[in-house]
Amino acid sequence: MKNQKLITRLFTSYVLIAVVAIILIIYFSSRAIEKFYFAQKAAELKARAELVQEIIGGYTIGETDSLHNLCESLGKRTDTRITLINSLGIVIADSKENPGNMDTHSDRPEVIEALERGEGLSRRHSYTLEEDHLYYARLMTEDGKNLIIRVSFPTVALEEALGALKVDLLLIGLIVILIIAGLNFYISRIITKPIEIMETGAKRFAKGKLKMKVPESSVLELGSLAKSLNEMAAQIFDRIRTITQQKNEQIAILSSMTEGVLALDKDGRILSANRAAADMFGYKPKRILNRFLYEMIRHAELNDFVAQVLNSNDTLQCRISVYEPEELILNVIGSRMPAKKGTIAGAVIVFTDLTRIQKLEGVRRDFVANVSHELKTPITSIQGYVETLQNGALTDTKNAERFLEIIAKHAARLGRIIDDLLELSRIEEFSGEDEKVLESTKIEDLFRSTIDNCQELSAERNIQIKTEIDPDLVLKVNTKLMVHALVNLLDNALKYSPQESVIILRAYQKKSSIILEVADEGVGIETEHLERIFERFYRVDRGRSRDIGGTGLGLSIVKHIARINKADLEVESTIGKGSIFRLTFRV
Ligand code: ADP
Repeated sequence: MKNQKLITRLFTSYVLIAVVAIILIIYFSSRAIEKFYFAQKAAELKARAELVQEIIGGYTIGETDSLHNLCESLGKRTDTRITLINSLGIVIADSKENPGNMDTHSDRPEVIEALERGEGLSRRHSYTLEEDHLYYARLMTEDGKNLIIRVSFPTVALEEALGALKVDLLLIGLIVILIIAGLNFYISRIITKPIEIMETGAKRFAKGKLKMKVPESSVLELGSLAKSLNEMAAQIFDRIRTITQQKNEQIAILSSMTEGVLALDKDGRILSANRAAADMFGYKPKRILNRFLYEMIRHAELNDFVAQVLNSNDTLQCRISVYEPEELILNVIGSRMPAKKGTIAGAVIVFTDLTRIQKLEGVRRDFVANVSHELKTPITSIQGYVETLQNGALTDTKNAERFLEIIAKHAARLGRIIDDLLELSRIEEFSGEDEKVLESTKIEDLFRSTIDNCQELSAERNIQIKTEIDPDLVLKVNTKLMVHALVNLLDNALKYSPQESVIILRAYQKKSSIILEVADEGVGIETEHLERIFERFYRVDRGRSRDIGGTGLGLSIVKHIARINKADLEVESTIGKGSIFRLTFRV
């Protein structure tokens, strides 16, 4: 009966009810008809027995032959078997059989009944005639006669007629059942059709097609069911939309975070991981989902930390170093996620990359050491010469002048270093709003200002400065800072080039970039130094740089100005032939 279609169930049950009802109707009606038939026949037999009783009233029991003949003729005429039996059960006369061949009839049920109550009726098989009969017996006790008059007739014809009637009834019943089945099928379809439509609609909802509505039915209950289903679908749609929106927001937040976030279940399996977390450990986010953390990240310290987090109510923190896929220093914060009362849903682990901060701290430490060192040398010299002067050299006019010159040179160097440092820190920290303002500037103007600034040195060194510019090239830069950067580059070119050489300031467009170059015919830089010359205080030849007034900060300043102006800075150099410093702006 399970998984049966409603129409089948309705149809079969109605047909079953109809079949049972029709069978019962046929059974009881055929029984009633049969009963009625036999009651009629019994009444007829009784009337005939009364007639026989009247006729034989004029005979004595001893006139057996006359009685027998009378029975025979009466029997023929009424188409009835007539039997006369005495009180001992001996047959005296019979319309169909010779009484001499007949056994005692004292055991026949109708005879026994007649002897007891005056009349008896029975329907049974006749052993004398070997066929079924309906018997009526009547006790006659008048005029000294004690006689049982029994009349009967065969029931075969009656039973045949009844049988035919039953067949007719069965046929009628069958036709009725077929008609009922047909009607039933039609009605069941009418009932089930809207339910099927609703079922299809509900299946569509189950597949997620929540926008398609279930058609409303004209049947009251089904109509309200369809309405409820549609309302439910609309609500689910809204909720799904809200949940999806929230989820997307969450994903967007998590994926835009620079901190790595991992959500773990209570066994340490990774439930979700944002891109930053996956990147930190060199995986794609999807690859680590549903895997154990200890399986994906073989880091004893981290795994111990996660175990502690899962067993603690507090937010815990630790710092770990990771060496693959790259060296990272991570600050890890872990907190347990509580679920239902007393159970743990898992933990959230947040990784913050401290590598840059740590490196910057290192750089800062180095910088402080470098600055101290750079300042210490001229100060020590100044102190030394001042002491020498104080200790009597002041009177030695010739030497005193020389010492004062040296002191002045070191003081000027101190001044330059301090100026450069201040400039560098100003540029680095974006202290002034000026630096952020990028304006369209003609490159020709930039080059002119740069050359004006270096006029003195170029004349002094007898070096020719040429320009090669695509006319009308315009750049969006912070003019003041860019001139500063170009002056540093031109100043270096002048310092590190031989007398009477040529320096070219070049500007041209290449695809979607504008390129500025400062090319000299100077000493050049060895390849091993190329990467480091932009670091603060880095000088290829410390002594030479100092002699010509270098601080080792010039290129560092250029690098920072390039970054503010969104330009790439690179250098090309060949020993003995010269160097080209190149600034590339994407436009
Ligand atoms: P400095 O004040 O010593 O010039 P910079 O930061 O400007 O410091 O330059 C760093 C180093 O790079 C210099 O010491 C020098 O050795 C090298 N350098 C810079 N520009 C040139 C150039 N045009 N030709 C050769 N070497 C250069």
